[in-house]
Amino acid sequence: MKFAKRVETLPPYLFAEIDKKRQAAIARGVDIINMGIGDPDQPTFKHIVDAMHTAIDDPTTHNYPPYHGLKEFREAVTKWFDERFSQKFDADKECVSLIGSKEAIHNCIFATIDKGDVALLPDPAYPVYKTSTLLSGGVPYVTPLLEKNNWIPDLTKIPNDIAQKANIIMVGYPNNPTGSVAPLAFYDEVIAFAKKYDIIVLSDNAYSEITFDGYVAPSIFQAKGARDVALEFHSLSKTYNMTGWRVGFAVGNEKVVKALSTVKTNIDSGVFKAIQRAALAAFNTPKEVIKKNNSIYCERRDVAVKGLIELGWEIKEPIKGTFYLWLPIPPSFKTSTDFASGMLDKCGIVVPPGVGYGEYGEGYFRIALTVDKKRIEEAFQRMKKEGFVFKQHCSVK
Ligand SMILES: *Cc1c(COP(=O)(O)O)cnc(C)c1O
Repeated sequence: MKFAKRVETLPPYLFAEIDKKRQAAIARGVDIINMGIGDPDQPTFKHIVDAMHTAIDDPTTHNYPPYHGLKEFREAVTKWFDERFSQKFDADKECVSLIGSKEAIHNCIFATIDKGDVALLPDPAYPVYKTSTLLSGGVPYVTPLLEKNNWIPDLTKIPNDIAQKANIIMVGYPNNPTGSVAPLAFYDEVIAFAKKYDIIVLSDNAYSEITFDGYVAPSIFQAKGARDVALEFHSLSKTYNMTGWRVGFAVGNEKVVKALSTVKTNIDSGVFKAIQRAALAAFNTPKEVIKKNNSIYCERRDVAVKGLIELGWEIKEPIKGTFYLWLPIPPSFKTSTDFASGMLDKCGIVVPPGVGYGEYGEGYFRIALTVDKKRIEEAFQRMKKEGFVFKQHCSVK
C-alpha cells in the first residue's frame, strides 16, 4: 500500500495515544473522569429536539439540500447576526451553511492556501488550523499566544517577508484552548495588518455565546473594515449543545464566501434539511435558556478554580468565555505529556497535554468543564491525594 505524502506529513495525533490509554483504563475498571474533550455533557435544548421531530416527519426534508443552505436558514442566520452583533449580511452572497465549522475551516484553508503559501496561525490552537494548512501544502507560521500578552498574538513580531508571503491569518476568541477573550481593538489591529499585506482573516467564533460574568464576546465584523478582508465561522455545536448534529455557518466577505462555497459544492452536499429547520428553532432560543446553560459552566469554573487554588495554582483571573481552563503543569513534571499520562495513570483523570495544541502549549494542560461539579471536586481530591500540586507560579514560556 502506498499513501499520499500529505498524509505522511501530518503531525502525530497525540490524543490518539491518550485515548488508547483511556480505553485501557476503562477496561481495567478505572472510574475515569474525562475532562479531555470539549464536548457539552448537557442535552440539546428541548425546543430544538422538538423542531427536529417535526422536521424529520416531513418527507420534503429527506432529499439533498441546497448547497449553500436553505434560504430560510440563511435568512435566520443573518437575522440572528444582526440582532446579536448589529451587522447586516446578504443571506445569498455573504452567508453559507456549514456541516459544523470544522469542515469549513479545513475547506476554507484549502480554498485560500496554495503550495508554499504561508498561513499565520496561533499556537497553542485548535489543531485543525495547522493540519489543514499542511494538507493544503502550505507553510504554517506560528504566532505564539503567551500569557504575558493575555494570549493574544503580537502581530508586530511577524517579520515583513513572512507577512508578505502570508495569505491567511487565523484568529479565534473566545479562545480554545486558553479560554482567553480579545478586545475589539485586537480585531482593528488584525484588519489593518491584513489590509497592509493583502491577507485574508479567518475568525473562528465557535464560543461567541459561551461567556460569563456579563461579558459579551464581539464578532470581528464589529470592527471597521472587517468585511473587506474577513470571514467568520460560527457553530451551533457549543452554544446549543449540538456537537453531534453538525451544523454551523460562515458570514463575511463575498469573495471568501464564494471561494469556500466552490470547494464545498465539489466535496459535500450540504446540511440535512431537517437539521437546518431545527437550527431555525435554535436561533430563536430565549436568552435565558442560554444564560442558564452558561451558568452551569460558570458554577463548574468556580468549583475548579477553588480546587486549583487549594492545590497551589495561582489563578489570576477566571475565564470569561469558553468552557476551558488552560493551566501550567506542576513543576514536578517535565512535559505536558508526562503530566497527562500521570493524571490518567494515578488519578484516572483525562486531560489533554498542552503540546497537543502546538509547541507553545508545552508546559500547560487543559481542563474541559464538561463534567458535573461533583466530578470536578472528586478530580481535585484525587489530584491532592497523589500530590499533584502546584506550589509556585511557573514563569511564562
Ligand atoms: C468545537 C470547535 C470548533 C468546531 O466545532 P464544530 O462542531 O465543527 O462546529 C471550531 N473551532 C474551535 C476552536 C472549537 O473548539
